[in-house]
Amino acid sequence: MRSISVLGATGSVGESAFDLVMRAGGPERFRTIALTGGANVARLAQMARALRAEIAVTAWPQCLAELRAALAGSGIEAAAGPRAVAEAAARPADWTLSAIVGAAGLPPGLEVLNRGGTLALANKETLVAAGPLVMSRARETGARILPVDSEHSAIFQALQGEDLESVEHVTITASGGAFRDWPLERLAQASVAEASRHPNWDMGQRITIDSASMFNKALEVIEAHEFFGLGVERLRVLVHPQSIIHAMVTHRDGGSIAHLGAPDMRHAIGYALNWPARAPLPVPALDLAALGSLTFAQPDEARWPALRLAREAIEAGGAAGAVLNAAKEQALDDFIAGRIRFTDMAPAVEHALALAAREAGFGQSPRDLAEVLHWDGFARRAAAQWQGAA
Ligand code: NAD
Ligand code: MG
Repeated sequence: MRSISVLGATGSVGESAFDLVMRAGGPERFRTIALTGGANVARLAQMARALRAEIAVTAWPQCLAELRAALAGSGIEAAAGPRAVAEAAARPADWTLSAIVGAAGLPPGLEVLNRGGTLALANKETLVAAGPLVMSRARETGARILPVDSEHSAIFQALQGEDLESVEHVTITASGGAFRDWPLERLAQASVAEASRHPNWDMGQRITIDSASMFNKALEVIEAHEFFGLGVERLRVLVHPQSIIHAMVTHRDGGSIAHLGAPDMRHAIGYALNWPARAPLPVPALDLAALGSLTFAQPDEARWPALRLAREAIEAGGAAGAVLNAAKEQALDDFIAGRIRFTDMAPAVEHALALAAREAGFGQSPRDLAEVLHWDGFARRAAAQWQGAA
């Protein structure tokens, strides 16, 4: 029986994965090693019982007693804290999904790679913050990374049987998020509630706000750069409000192969779960006649400065990805907490990037987790400080 672990099981991607695994037969089909979550321990315990997991881990130490109580009599181990999440990830499993949000996904993701496992990666921050380290660790241990971010799954699928050398460029699409059609001058007044409503995708709050600011796409451009080894000149972003084409690979012979599908993460998660086979998934087939038309536009970088920052971070190299990611997380925290405006997030990130470049230059890309965490901390302080300077 195949063994699986899901890190961040109680989130939006984690719930979709749970749905797929249960539909495929649950504990009759899969041996579940570890499930991890956050404060929602009731749901975590429910999932762990349904899948008869070996261990359930909450990232929050103060939730351990509640988790223990919720698992009483089940024989399922309980643990808590970031180190316990990493230890759970280190337990051998044939397939491990990382659906944690934020840079917190990096240490457990590295544990999966250290043991040479298969890492289905939704946590894009792992590649943004530490792409060279992550990719080289996977090469050293023979670990496999399967992209789960929908655009990267789409590129991965479109590239099957193709030679990367023949690729002229890759296009990832962006819905444009909540504020695509807002007048620019209104953006500074955008509220957290308004930014948390996505037109097409049902996702966690943080990635939904990142979609409105286009920081999600900025992270995805860096993610594509790190995972596929494509330079900025071969990476394009196209606004596509319907979110039907997820990505497109354009070859030097002028042919393009696009990946289309309903905006439902169960496709990308299921593709990674069944890879290299394809199995039926509970995702509706497209009805293009009903859709009628698909539309596209060039992204406006005055509206979405995050895209320029992503390009600059790729060109800077070194620790710029770690800095951009952590500064963005800090700016997002500050926006959600009401400390800064929606339009302050990009300047705060730009400030952190500039400060990092001035302080030490970006130099080499981080060689170990400690170096990533050094730049992560630096960037969070710099982004928070910008808010003070404003
Ligand atoms: P979410 O907020 O819905 O869920 C996050 C999960 O991680 C939860 O289980 C939560 O308990 C856990 N978690 C949060 N903070 C943690 C921490 N510090 N340590 C350990 N665990 C922690 O997020 P999501 O929308 O499911 O997104 C998860 C990841 O997948 C993100 O990296 C996101 O960018 C990526 N992604 C999401 C979608 C989507 O449709 N939601 C699509 C593509 C990529
Ligand atoms: Mg995506």
